[in-house]
Amino acid sequence: MKYDIRKHIERHIGRLEAQINKSGSHPEGCWPWRGTKTHNGYGQFCADGHRMAVHRILWTLDRDRLIPEGLYILHRCEERLCCNPDHLYIAARGYHHRTGTYFQEVPEWDLARYRTSRR
Ligand SMILES: [Zn+2]
Repeated sequence: MKYDIRKHIERHIGRLEAQINKSGSHPEGCWPWRGTKTHNGYGQFCADGHRMAVHRILWTLDRDRLIPEGLYILHRCEERLCCNPDHLYIAARGYHHRTGTYFQEVPEWDLARYRTSRR
């Protein structure tokens, strides 16, 4: 059976929302996460024994679709703790022999051609 992050979050949505500051006090309109962080500064949420990146949860709930395999959710605002779905976009990682690794935004209308995996 396919892993669906939405099924794990449903019962924990209140606890998730309680840790997001949507007060609007942030000048860029960011919604900072107030809960646990990962070592590299992203929000982390635990539900049913699964540890999940908060910005990936927020993107999934907002778009109501799973993140295809190998794709990344990035912040336009560059604020790693931000949970505002409007500040999030989906991207693929590429490699260029001179400039190295880069991220390329994937238009959401084009996501159907990517395979959706367990998470
Ligand atoms: Zn933001």
